[in-house]
Amino acid sequence: MTSKIESIKLTPIHVPFKPAVRKAMAESEGGLGMAIGAEEAWLGGDFVTCQMADNQGNEGLGEVFLWLPETGISPEQVIDSIEKSLSKYIIGENPFNIQKINHRMDINLARNDVAKGLLDMACYDLMGKAKEVPVCELIGGRNVEKIPLAALIPLGEPMLMKGLVRSYYKKGYRTFRLKLGKSVQKDVEIVDTIRKTFGNEIRLRVDYNQAYTPQMAIKAIEAITPYQIDYAEQPVKIVDYIGMAHVQKSVKVPLLSHEGCFSLQDFVTLVELGAVKVLGINSERPGGITKALKALNYAEIRGLGVVFHNQPLGISSAFQIHMVASHIYSIEHATELFGQEMLEDDLIVKPLEISDGMVKVPEGSGWGIQLDEIAMKKYITSSPLTLE
Ligand SMILES: [Mg+2]
Repeated sequence: MTSKIESIKLTPIHVPFKPAVRKAMAESEGGLGMAIGAEEAWLGGDFVTCQMADNQGNEGLGEVFLWLPETGISPEQVIDSIEKSLSKYIIGENPFNIQKINHRMDINLARNDVAKGLLDMACYDLMGKAKEVPVCELIGGRNVEKIPLAALIPLGEPMLMKGLVRSYYKKGYRTFRLKLGKSVQKDVEIVDTIRKTFGNEIRLRVDYNQAYTPQMAIKAIEAITPYQIDYAEQPVKIVDYIGMAHVQKSVKVPLLSHEGCFSLQDFVTLVELGAVKVLGINSERPGGITKALKALNYAEIRGLGVVFHNQPLGISSAFQIHMVASHIYSIEHATELFGQEMLEDDLIVKPLEISDGMVKVPEGSGWGIQLDEIAMKKYITSSPLTLE
């Protein structure tokens, strides 16, 4: 019997950050642990989960992370676009017709890649469950058993950041993303302290969260270039593609656009402008597995770096792990998977197995994880919407 999608249940969720994360953010200038200029305190992660049921009793899971200063849309807007439009092109369809589903979503609703991605990823979990294989085996193979992870270090005083690097170093992490952007001088102090303490064995990437003008960004990146930086994330404003290209053409360190890259077209435009040399992927950008595969293939052909990064709940963490395990030969940067460190709960029954700075690829059908519906009840912000 062919699988046929019968219903979609959408749940808006807010999971608070762990007390230690809130403390680290509160201690930083601006209160966010990064140089982003938002006025509202960031107290936890907002998400929408999708539970997609087929006619065979299978359930496909999707999840997207949303933060207004970055994503620009709320959980309610994601749910609304699925209710008013996208659900029509999903319900009654076979999840294996994923190109058709994406085509119909794209021609009938412009943009909204986050909502489309949420549905696309649930379709892949359904396919895996219908065939009783892990998602990685549908898209390239379970080529490795474990993948290396990178630790995220919030912006703070150099000694505090060094202490955090040390704690993750002891746990086996060897790649670190340092939040920078206070000032060129402070940035150098932070990177110098960490590189000198831990030597050349560790890999460093930095994230400016739009802190600088293009001219200042060039100065800031040149100042840390001697410290062997793998790549620098979002030095300039979200949509300043021209400024980003100006910076990338002036510095040797590869750039990655995070807040400024939400669709396949954004990425291609940034690459063709000479504005980025590294692609960042997660479940909501460029949107699900189908578009992530296109972006990944394009990046590989163009000889660009690729990193999977986010602080999601367990479902999107599984998405990232399956993508990386199936495309490990195209990905030279350790995966940033930090939801389990930052959030109070991952909302999956059995946590991901993380040890020695590596995460094990989940076994079992689909994502290989199970949604913890009891824990989920605690974090629901308004009634789930079921579409049939
Ligand atoms: Mg960032």
